[in-house]
Amino acid sequence: MHDVTASRDEIRRARIPCASAVASHFHNASVTAPFPLAIIATLHEYRYSAPLFETAGWAAMSVIAVGGFQHETNTFAPSKADYAAFASGGAWPELTFGDAIAPRLANANIPATGAFDALHAAGHRTVGLVWGAASPSAQVTEDAFEQIVGAMVERLAAAGPVDGVYLDLHGAMVTEHLDDGEGEILARVRRVVGPRVPIIASLDLHANVTRAMMREADGFDAYRTYPHVDMAATGARAAFLLERTLKSGYPMAKAMRPLDFLTGLSSQSTFIEPGKRLYELLEKLEREHDTQLSFTPGFPMADFPECQMAVLGYGPDAGRVQKAVDALANAVHDAEHEFALDLFEPDAAVARAAQRGEPGAPVVLADTQDNPGAGGNGDTTGLLAALLQRNPRDAVLGLLIDRASALQAHAVGIGRTAPFKLGETSGVPGHVPLAGEFTVEALADGRFTCTGPMFKGFQMNLGPMAVLRQGNVRVVLASKKVQAADKAMFRHVGIEPREQRILALKSSVHFRADFQPIAKEILVVVAPGPAKADPTMFSWSRLRPGLRLKPGGPAFVLPAN
Ligand SMILES: [Zn+2]
Repeated sequence: MHDVTASRDEIRRARIPCASAVASHFHNASVTAPFPLAIIATLHEYRYSAPLFETAGWAAMSVIAVGGFQHETNTFAPSKADYAAFASGGAWPELTFGDAIAPRLANANIPATGAFDALHAAGHRTVGLVWGAASPSAQVTEDAFEQIVGAMVERLAAAGPVDGVYLDLHGAMVTEHLDDGEGEILARVRRVVGPRVPIIASLDLHANVTRAMMREADGFDAYRTYPHVDMAATGARAAFLLERTLKSGYPMAKAMRPLDFLTGLSSQSTFIEPGKRLYELLEKLEREHDTQLSFTPGFPMADFPECQMAVLGYGPDAGRVQKAVDALANAVHDAEHEFALDLFEPDAAVARAAQRGEPGAPVVLADTQDNPGAGGNGDTTGLLAALLQRNPRDAVLGLLIDRASALQAHAVGIGRTAPFKLGETSGVPGHVPLAGEFTVEALADGRFTCTGPMFKGFQMNLGPMAVLRQGNVRVVLASKKVQAADKAMFRHVGIEPREQRILALKSSVHFRADFQPIAKEILVVVAPGPAKADPTMFSWSRLRPGLRLKPGGPAFVLPAN
């Protein structure tokens, strides 16, 4: 383990050009080569008397620039995120600019929404830059990145002097031309506003926090829940950190500690241990040490040297920040073995669910590896095939993303039976669509509003939807990619989830917010898909040497050239 720590003095100095004459040294020799600790300047002889930020003591109205650019990149996934993916947004709101951002995001569980609300409630004026997000996938294209960040930076420059910047970032963006998308976004924003304007960002719990990010930003706050029911609340916490930083007149001291193992998404849920306990500890340590803490278990599907779990913190006192970060990082380290999780092969999962599921208490099968929330396209048919094979009573799988089959169902009509070729639209070699006779049981237009704790208020437009039946098994088709994490996705097509015996959901963890309360039990299934539940199943080539690929697992070794 190694750490990144800088006191307020050190950070301030690192940003003041004339201080560059002061020698800096990388104080932790255990850090391996590709991680220059640029912000770890250990500076002793320089003392300053004036606050860094001109807004010190700030209480009156300030001008805060607000932007957002979110992507979670699975470098092993089949398709990239181009400009059109952000323009439409997928399950997120579409790419939005300037003054239109705040009203477009109003009342949604989105970080920028919480930040806008908090900043406006405190009497500050916000200047909207650009806000965009796309479904998780492979790399963001260079074109999309340059256009969106270009617009962000241009609007920021045009806005004139601002007192602070808030950004709604994910923290796991890899692009065609950059390993660390957020590090570059923050660096470009920093170049516009200079060293004396604080930049604070909210992050997803699945952020892979990098050294460049830590260097360029004055603070981060990440989600504390998975399912992410606190996205808007996280934006509000980031706004609080921004306000506190401005008021103090100095950057907060910061510390970060990466962990030495990866863990799959399914075991990162805060509905189960050890996540539940660790985030309770996080809040306790915050109070004890006057430190705003984040624990990011990371997104273990991005093949670059800073794919990692981390603990980070910000506060006025460097010593207390370091203490809080160390205590939480040590607790995560000690819980390593608890992050291991039982995984089921499709047939074994269906067999167990058929025995145990009952109406009112269905068994939920998480088709985690095809999760559209982690880079899957929601189109693999491995678990569906296992269901059709055993034909258990009252079984539903959703959402299978297959626009052609949904359109075919609309053409065939309700009550009629026809041959279909379902799914596998991504064109992954060796994957063929599932062919068979299905009866069209229901049709819908895909427009509805989500009702569950995580997506409440999100207006879905999933294109033509349909329910097909073969024997006891029903499959819900949709035309646009989204993970099955809200009961409204099933009620929209006439299916009441609670009445089923088996619910097979293309989701890793987000479904737990709305479905765990009705589930008899939840089985994590390893059917085909690009979002591997066990990180050792990826063919990694660029991780940090020594990083354990799963809890208690083998350490990564750089491949010989
Ligand atoms: Zn996430």
